[in-house]
Amino acid sequence: MSDKAPVPIQTSTLDKPKQNGLRDNTEIRARCEKTENLLNRPRVLMYHRIVDDRALSQTQQTCVHIHEFRKQLELIDRLGYTPITFYDYRLFQAGEIQLPKKPLILTFDDGYLDTYHLAFPLLTEFGMKAVIFALGDPSVRTNVWDAGKPGISEAGLMEQDHIAELSDYGFEIGGHSLSHPNLASLSAAECLHEVSKTKMVLETITHTEVQSFSYPYGEVSRQVKDCVAESGYKYACSVFSGPARFGVDLLEIRRIAVHNTTTIPGLALRLVSPYEYLEWMWWKSGSASRFGKRGAPVKGYSLQ
Ligand SMILES: [Zn+2]
Repeated sequence: MSDKAPVPIQTSTLDKPKQNGLRDNTEIRARCEKTENLLNRPRVLMYHRIVDDRALSQTQQTCVHIHEFRKQLELIDRLGYTPITFYDYRLFQAGEIQLPKKPLILTFDDGYLDTYHLAFPLLTEFGMKAVIFALGDPSVRTNVWDAGKPGISEAGLMEQDHIAELSDYGFEIGGHSLSHPNLASLSAAECLHEVSKTKMVLETITHTEVQSFSYPYGEVSRQVKDCVAESGYKYACSVFSGPARFGVDLLEIRRIAVHNTTTIPGLALRLVSPYEYLEWMWWKSGSASRFGKRGAPVKGYSLQ
């Protein structure tokens, strides 16, 4: 009987051991997948109102004209982006689905009625879905928080039936507080009430878990984030704060704002460039605060 050790049988090249420090195919494939996932992180756009009134779209920063919005959706389609929701991203995190190439999350703050009447039909025409951040207090029927601000007109908000219909269609409904206060200025108990009751109300309307949130005015603090986490939200969107890279802090997700002045080349530039990094660098430098509110750390954006 031979005392030689049996020679292991190599079934494929994947079983070959490292030689001279070279990695085997399995390791290289894993690294490729990791790099692809890093490059394929979702981008998040922030809208407020879509309007069909030229006077509004020419004077109010948060009002994008429906014709411009159509061109923007055509661009998004042409560049190969696929709109997803935070629900989709959660499934991806759970390993249940793969993300599409160039995932994009379209978000609409405040739940304006014109988001339902104008944006919803156009998005469905393009086969796209979106995330709508609505208020939890049904007695707030218009943007009363903007009352008295120069240049901002009154706008109606969606009612429960509208919200339920969007949810049934596959749009994601997220929370935006009960009454649109600056959450960072509230006590912990008041903040928790605004955030957690909104979740309960919207879940009753949609019969679906509400798992995403948008901070009113983009105002974020440690206490506000703790309230959002304690209430059970998994994702929360800021405006001009938070890490540049999606996924680093899912309770402070930086978004790219689309305004009435955003041109098609401007939106293309935002989508094909590392725009969040450029804003993040500007935000971190603090230099933006010298030019006004835009980009000021933590303070967010006045018209959010
Ligand atoms: Zn808002």
